[in-house]
Amino acid sequence: MIAREKIRDLLNGEKVGDEVTVCGWVRTFRSNRFISLNDGTCAANLQAVVDFEKFDEEQLKKVTTGACLKVTGTLVESLGAGQSVEVQVEKLEVIGEANPEKYPLQPKRHSLEFLREIAHLRVRTNTFGAIYRVRHAVIYAVHKFFHEKGFYNIHTPIITGSDAEGAGEMFRVSALDPKSPPLTESGEVDFTEDFFGKETNLTVSGQLEGETAALALSEIYTFGPTFRAENSNTSRHLAEFWMIEPEMAFYDLEDSMDLAEEFLKYLINYVLTHCREDLDILDKRLADEDKQKPALERSPMGLIEKLQFTLENEYERITYTEAINILKNSKPNKKKKFQYVIEDWGADLQSEHERYLVEKHFKKPVILFNYPKEIKAFYMRINDDDTVAAMDVLFPGIGEIIGGSQREERLEYLEKRMDEMGVPRDELDWYLDLRRFGSAPHSGFGLGFERMMQFLTGMGNIRDVIPFPRTPGNAEF
Ligand code: ATP
Ligand code: MN
Repeated sequence: MIAREKIRDLLNGEKVGDEVTVCGWVRTFRSNRFISLNDGTCAANLQAVVDFEKFDEEQLKKVTTGACLKVTGTLVESLGAGQSVEVQVEKLEVIGEANPEKYPLQPKRHSLEFLREIAHLRVRTNTFGAIYRVRHAVIYAVHKFFHEKGFYNIHTPIITGSDAEGAGEMFRVSALDPKSPPLTESGEVDFTEDFFGKETNLTVSGQLEGETAALALSEIYTFGPTFRAENSNTSRHLAEFWMIEPEMAFYDLEDSMDLAEEFLKYLINYVLTHCREDLDILDKRLADEDKQKPALERSPMGLIEKLQFTLENEYERITYTEAINILKNSKPNKKKKFQYVIEDWGADLQSEHERYLVEKHFKKPVILFNYPKEIKAFYMRINDDDTVAAMDVLFPGIGEIIGGSQREERLEYLEKRMDEMGVPRDELDWYLDLRRFGSAPHSGFGLGFERMMQFLTGMGNIRDVIPFPRTPGNAEF
């Protein structure tokens, strides 16, 4: 390891007067004198001051944006504006050069679209450095929240043998030779010859397996990758995303809504408390981006203001039926401004409707519950009025961020729903066992991690909150 101080640890000034060694990447080099160094340990750069007369000209020429340096010198209080301390460089070593003719990241504003094409380098920008540090903090906060509540983390399988979860289109996992797969007598691909002896897919949700653990350990959560082969090219869908799925025995739907609200607020509070420097960068980025937009499209609140607002206010809880009534009587519905006009009870809500409720009508997060059974999954608990005990949490700018339900714990009701919806019972016999042996009321939900990241960072496109996004037509890196 190269012995060095992290920039994060130098900025508090405790080491002023000491000789320090710092390694990092050059952001800018001004007047042949001031080097801005960033090592990613925090957002701030450290200014390294060189007296060019003391250094070899050829060596200084290699100090260009993107180059990696090791500098040694005295840490002193800075006289210049914008930083508290700086290093007066006595020794300088260029560890890795970055040819300025070829290095794509120059100290100017690059578009997010361009940066997506160089996702292997975009982490070196202020914006993406901030996003990845916040992402780490949120991952940590998720585990901290559940650990402190006594939940156990469960790893559910990524390759799944059940394709009946119904949460979305799946990616097949196969080791067969695509050019000449074994065929059955009727000429179809014979998956009994495949690696697992059956058809397998990448998981779309860990819920069903999570339920097995909840009905033994009481309160569990999963936090893993999920895959959906839907061809939806939106700013809120990825083909590979991370999901957090708590599952709790002895919770009804309301308990689960309480947990969801507490959890979301915990994450927001954690980021507000621990990621202030990065949030300031992201807040400013959003404000700058907004200035380019027509007044009507600008966000009504700044990022930090919005986070605080979502922390301090109670979420509105209304039934699906109430939501339909609000939407039916809303201006955009009457004027047919919605792409999908709401006609009757039973309609599936689109993101435009969700956002109307949150952003225009209630102006705060909304939890919708008790949906028509026809538009929800087979495992959701049937209410007396034929709705199911499902809930979605809707957030401003995002729409659905959480989807959950109380699960049907009564064997005969569950079997009936599976038959009605054409879900093969034999394939999910193990799932039915949970209702045959020691069944109990239980509930759970799924939080899309990247949707939460979008909310916390103010990034409009989900491709910018995961290091290497997978979307239709794109699996670079
Ligand atoms: P949507 O209607 O927005 O496509 P969904 O109802 O299909 O979502 P669920 O199956 O309920 O989603 O998944 C639970 C959560 O996972 C969602 O609330 C959302 O936060 C997140 N999620 C779902 N699909 C995606 C995706 N393709 N990319 C990123 N996050 C997703
Ligand atoms: Mn959903």
